[in-house]
Amino acid sequence: MADDRCCSAHACFIVPPKLLRKLGDLDTALLSERLRGQRLAFKEMGFAAVGVPAGGERRTIYDAGHATRLPGALVRGEGGPRSKDEVVNQAYDSSGDTYDFYWKTFKRNSVDGRGMRLDSTVHYGTRFNNAFWNGRQMVYGDGDGQLFTGFASAIDVVGHELTHGVTQYTVPGGLTYDGQSGALNESISDVFGTLVKQWKLGQDVNAASWLIGEGIMGAKYGKALRSMKAPGTAWTGDDQPGDMGGYVQDGDVHTNSGIPNHAFFLAAMALGGHAWEKAGPIWYRTLPMLHPDATFAEAARATIDAAGLLYGAGAEQAAVQAAWKGVKVL
Ligand SMILES: [Zn+2]
Repeated sequence: MADDRCCSAHACFIVPPKLLRKLGDLDTALLSERLRGQRLAFKEMGFAAVGVPAGGERRTIYDAGHATRLPGALVRGEGGPRSKDEVVNQAYDSSGDTYDFYWKTFKRNSVDGRGMRLDSTVHYGTRFNNAFWNGRQMVYGDGDGQLFTGFASAIDVVGHELTHGVTQYTVPGGLTYDGQSGALNESISDVFGTLVKQWKLGQDVNAASWLIGEGIMGAKYGKALRSMKAPGTAWTGDDQPGDMGGYVQDGDVHTNSGIPNHAFFLAAMALGGHAWEKAGPIWYRTLPMLHPDATFAEAARATIDAAGLLYGAGAEQAAVQAAWKGVKVL
């Protein structure tokens, strides 16, 4: 499956179809699966995105008007006045926060590092319980008001999706969206998605909830999509494992991602303080050291090497090694 890369060839969703099926939204599950299998023509993928000067930020928000044609009608451009539609403003603000996080933390200029325009479409579909990155832009459903109440309001969801673009442009050849490399792809998006949120809120590792998508899910279904602190406890039916003892053979990429997610959590807790200042740079430095079919064990060794490159052979490197032992990958 050499060309099955998220998200250069397929849409990457925040909500796995399995969750939607378990909780009874077959329509969104089917549409998500169809979109995930849909190949984008190369010319549509935005790889020829025109760069802007360093630090330049260009957000464009479109409104699909509850249809599924992309991108929809232009409703707000960079520096434009706030919209009367709060969802438009949420998509604008959250993509801006994600841009600022990558620029201020890693001196990275947008998703591709070259000032790629950040396009977002809101009000996609009818009662659509999902959000996704399709290789060139963000797309948000409104949710059905029961299972989900919207997606653009969750800054970590926006950070998660845009990080799929970062992975696409930073891991040489991307990360194949299947098996362990697919779960790593998902985990990297959760790691930087939660870091965007923690950075925005100024939270240290103890103050952070380590939940992904907190506040967008109907309370009777669960508190969030995933928990990095306690994988498998976020929603009714959550089967994410927290270590290799629970590894699901042929499992969904959003299931086994619980293992590397928890490794990052353990490393961040051991290093303490603000996770984006110590643990985050180690994981970020690891991205160019991975390859399309990277395994958990290879990713573990790469993070240990990255910790050594950044901080030398010391407590940081030992903490990263202990984290991967904690999830039984090493
Ligand atoms: Zn994802």
